[in-house]
This record gives sequence, structure tokens and C-alpha cells, in this order.
Amino acid sequence: MSTPQFISINKTLVPYDDARVHVLSPTVKYGALVFEGLRAYWNAEQEQLYVIKLQEHFERFHNSVKAMRFDAKYSTEELTGIVLDLLRANEVRSDVHLRVAAYVEGSGLYDSTGPISLMCAAYGRGSGPLAAKTVSAGVVSWRRISDAATPPRLKVAANYHNARLGSLEAKINGYDEAIFLTSQGRVAEGAGSCLAIVRDGRLITPSKTEGILESVTRQAVLDIARDLGVATEERPVDRSELYFAEEAFFCGTGVEIAPVTSIDKLPVGDGQIGEVTRNIWDRYEASARGVGGHGPDWRTPVYPR
Ligand code: PMP
Repeated sequence: MSTPQFISINKTLVPYDDARVHVLSPTVKYGALVFEGLRAYWNAEQEQLYVIKLQEHFERFHNSVKAMRFDAKYSTEELTGIVLDLLRANEVRSDVHLRVAAYVEGSGLYDSTGPISLMCAAYGRGSGPLAAKTVSAGVVSWRRISDAATPPRLKVAANYHNARLGSLEAKINGYDEAIFLTSQGRVAEGAGSCLAIVRDGRLITPSKTEGILESVTRQAVLDIARDLGVATEERPVDRSELYFAEEAFFCGTGVEIAPVTSIDKLPVGDGQIGEVTRNIWDRYEASARGVGGHGPDWRTPVYPR
């Protein structure tokens, strides 16, 4: 990660080293923080930077802030302004990942609802070719958190304790990525991404009620698949279906599209990147960079034309 010059805190641009929180704040003590991870893609020919799917990310952000009962309400316009001001102040002209977070400051307990601060940071994170994104995956013994205890559809820092345990287990066992099952034993998602498989040419991904984050990229993938004439299914997925899949990939803002070439040490299909995965990635990248694919509703340009 390259360090940006400025980070936005409560709408003020502060130097990187001054972006701090107190060690006794509820955000540090209990992970009381709602966040979004976004990406912006640089188009050198157009000399334009595009933040993708801003509206969708901020809708989820509003929902998480509401469910966490934070003493704050942000409008999408306000948040968009903060993101654009930050990218312009840092004069970003390359692919970046962004983090927007609302978090509980002060020295309260786990049920404190304020005071809330809002931060936004952008840091370099390139996007390589699909072949460089392939991963091995293993089903981990930790189960995905459930809606009855700590809802996975809230994008809250504390939820990532579960991701951490699974991800560490996967790595210790020699896999690049973890696949979590729900407590009912069905496929949920990865540690920081959703999972899709292809069976009989159909794109299948666990439904939104199967212990997943309601991923912006997952929805984009479903939209692209339908455009490409690939039938889609959102439904419960059994673990053994993973072994029957012709293709599999993780999807998320950070990982983008990551082809899974083996699961539990069994090859997925022929162990190569599949055609559906490749076609979806090509259209995703074109849409993100503004060179075809989906229209302007995907992208918010940062610089005046
Ligand atoms: N699931 C989890 C647990 C995640 O952390 C992420 C990354 N935010 C995703 C799925 C993918 O979500 P999105 O496509 O909105 O980035």
C-alpha cells in the first residue's frame, strides 16, 4: 500500500500521520465501525478516474449505519462529495482502493452510539490481468456468522473477526482463500468476497439469505452474466456442488474477479480459467474503466471533462 498525502476526517483533509483515533474508543475496543471498500479505476486515454458503483456502496453504508444505531446520518451526495474531494486533493491518477468508515469515538462501552466520526482514505491498489488473480480455496471449519447473532449483511469491522479466523485457517492448510459454510452446512462466501460457480453453463451463487454480505460486485456479476446470455441462479448451494463445478470464482470490490482453480485440493473443471469467468471479467473491467460494457450508471468521474 502506498501512503496517501491526505486522509479525510470529518470532512477535513488531514496529513496521513495525523489520522488517528483514541485507544479507548469503542471503535478500537469493540470494532464499532461501519465501512465500505470501494475502487476507482484510471483511464489513461481519457485522463479520467472513475469511482465505480458509488450509489450501491452508499446505500449499503446507510443501512449498516442505521442498523448499528449510530448517532449520524449521511446523505449519498455528502459522501460522494467527500470521496471526490479526497481523490482530487491527493491528485490520484492510478487505480486505487478506497475506504469510507463511520466509527464510534469517545470512551463509551459497546452500546455507545456516538460521537461518530467519518473517515475516507484512498491508497494505491492496482488491478492485474485475470491470470494473476487465480487462487486455490479450501472449505474451513469455522462457520459463517449468522443473522441471529452478528448479521453478515452489515458491513461492520467486528464481523471480520470471523473472516480472520477462517482466512488464517485456510492459509495454515496451504490454501490461498477460505470458503465459509453457514451453520446449516451450506456454502456462504469467502472471507472478503462472494463466491459463484458455473454448473452446466449456469452461473450459481448463494442467495442473500445464506450468510453473505450483500455484495455490490456479486450483483454486478449477475447483471453482466444476464447481459452475456448466461442463465443465473441465486439459491442455497451444497458443499459437494463445489466439486461438480465447471468454473468457480470469488468476486468483490477488492479481489475483483478471482478465478478459483481448485477447491479442497480438487481441480475446478480442468483447473484452468473458464470461459464464463473470463467473459465476465472482461466486461467488468471494461465497464469499470469506461471502455465499453455497462454504461455511465456504473461510474462517477472524478475530474471535470
Ligand atoms: N463478502 C465479504 C465478507 C466482504 O468483505 C466483501 C468485500 N466487501 C464482499 C463479500 C464483496 O462485497 P463487495 O462486492 O460489495 O465489495
